[in-house]
Amino acid sequence: MADNETIFAKIVRGEIPCEKVYEDDLVLAFRDIQPVAPVHLLVIPKEPLVNLSSAKPAQAELLGRLLLGAEQAARAAGIAADGYRIVLNNGRQAGQEVMHLHLHVLGGRGFGWPPG
Ligand code: AMP
Repeated sequence: MADNETIFAKIVRGEIPCEKVYEDDLVLAFRDIQPVAPVHLLVIPKEPLVNLSSAKPAQAELLGRLLLGAEQAARAAGIAADGYRIVLNNGRQAGQEVMHLHLHVLGGRGFGWPPG
């Protein structure tokens, strides 16, 4: 179920500040408060959506726009040319703590594979 009281819903409404790097009509991107890479962005839908498992077929365009927003945010932050990693923690076991869908966009250093 969508939750209007998550930290990210409050950021969308401007009730909690963020360091914004990109915004359009559907998507907001801002810097993670506890970065794990030199550049660590979070890209979220403005509408509350818990995670990928909660997404409906009718939200397919929104999901596509989220990915395109991640590229726009990466360009704005100066990491698109060198490359970046996108991480989506879907559900508790994957490490999802904030129950509002978000992409982590990580850049500014190299990343190993497989991921930890
Ligand atoms: P996840 O564990 O995938 O749910 O990621 C949640 C992310 O949100 C973590 O990387 C946190 O550091 C980040 N975070 C939590 N609160 C804030 C905030 N107020 N502003 C920016 N990032 C935040």
